[in-house]
Amino acid sequence: MPDQNKNQELELVFLGTGNAFSMAKRYWGSILVNNTILFDPSPIVVPHMKLLDRSLSALENIFITHFHADHYFGLPFILLDYAYIEPPDHPLTIIGPAGVMGRMAQLLNLGFPGLFDKLKDKVLLKYLEVTDSGRYQAYGLEFDAFNMEHGGISMDAYGYKISLGGKTIGYTGDTDLCDGLYRLAEGLDILIIEFSNPDLDVPGHISQAKLEKLRERLDERTKIILNHIGTITEDISQDQNVIIPKDLAIYKF
Ligand SMILES: [Zn+2]
Ligand SMILES: [Zn+2]
Repeated sequence: MPDQNKNQELELVFLGTGNAFSMAKRYWGSILVNNTILFDPSPIVVPHMKLLDRSLSALENIFITHFHADHYFGLPFILLDYAYIEPPDHPLTIIGPAGVMGRMAQLLNLGFPGLFDKLKDKVLLKYLEVTDSGRYQAYGLEFDAFNMEHGGISMDAYGYKISLGGKTIGYTGDTDLCDGLYRLAEGLDILIIEFSNPDLDVPGHISQAKLEKLRERLDERTKIILNHIGTITEDISQDQNVIIPKDLAIYKF
């Protein structure tokens, strides 16, 4: 995969690190990459980007892994900001499973009636449907998508891989151990992986036992960053190669 910005530093900002239940100080997971890319626009994005003085209008590509509310219900508030405060002066691409544009129209009509139409004069919104594993081209960014296993056959879910700042990053979204996850995790510098239920073997999510199984197949250089965290066990937190970010943590690589 070509690296779009090899000379850049890579910066990851953990706007939220929690799962759907959002325990105290771990709000719904969402990650800002080099100010322009967002992995899963959770409901915490707008307040925490403003707290960190990061510009919403700098966003160029927003990735949605799947349509559970903790992963995309922050979008209406981002778009509301564009309509009334500061729209971006470049296109914004919203990337997600099939039906992403329809979902967005539905969500905006429920939340802020009229906003979907108002946005047409404010920002050039593009929608990119991911319909299978493979390589895709977004706004100035090439990425790979991988089918994940989450929520049974009724829920399309994808993990994404991008290369930026000389590093290759994989982001899983919610998933069980599956072929797509193993393929996504190959040859990465950084793997951001969901860790919903460390001690419980819940289908469609990663436990500590599943993470250990995955690690047998990972490159030694691959740094693991946990996200979508329910609770944490001591064993994992003492591991040198595993980072457990707090909300608002910023890492540079
Ligand atoms: Zn989730
Ligand atoms: Zn989910």
